[in-house]
Amino acid sequence: MLLNKLLFTPTCVLCNDPAGIISLCDACQKDLPRIKYCCSQCGLPFQEKLDNALCGECQQSLPPIDYLISSLAYDYPVGYLVSQLKFNRNLSYAKILSHLLLNTLQSQKIERPDLIIPVPLHKNRLRKRGFNQALEIARPLAKALNIPLAKYAIQRIKQTDAQSLLSAKERRKNLRHSFKIKRAITVKHVVLVDDVVTTGVTTFELANLLKKSGIEKVGVWTVARA
Ligand SMILES: [Zn+2]
Ligand SMILES: [Zn+2]
Repeated sequence: MLLNKLLFTPTCVLCNDPAGIISLCDACQKDLPRIKYCCSQCGLPFQEKLDNALCGECQQSLPPIDYLISSLAYDYPVGYLVSQLKFNRNLSYAKILSHLLLNTLQSQKIERPDLIIPVPLHKNRLRKRGFNQALEIARPLAKALNIPLAKYAIQRIKQTDAQSLLSAKERRKNLRHSFKIKRAITVKHVVLVDDVVTTGVTTFELANLLKKSGIEKVGVWTVARA
């Protein structure tokens, strides 16, 4: 029995110390980069506490998302954890990332959405990767919080490559008309789930589409915000 226990004790994916069910030890969890201050609308991290709750861009024009909750800042080792999931196709990392996001949501007073929508992948990318990381992160969240999950409500109809090389303006242009609502969504408050939000333009494009279709409130839950 003891040997069995020793053999199957999960170890931390970052330091190899013994860990709990999510394969990340307590010390490494405590050490993860958190966001102390951020824009109240788009979640852009601030270096310090600012008098204005909105970032410069949101002050100029409010984005279509009503709020963004991020578990972590996009600094080491978050990029490593995300790339293990996305590029090494190690699905056990989805469990870790989802757990971290759930912890954050449960530690805050969140307004419960009526529906959770994972940011969809284009079918070509989905075929190549074999899974949608946003869905893998959203699924355990929806289950734990008992909120319906709409896996296929929105379709990504345009493939956009190498977004990271483009400026925010180019990304916005590139992403225009990328999504299509496949099934009517008749709720008031929707939350989009993604692994990482960088410029935010993908979630803005989706939120625009949802709001045009009559959804009143669109929030974003993400594991990391750059
Ligand atoms: Zn550790
Ligand atoms: Zn902002």
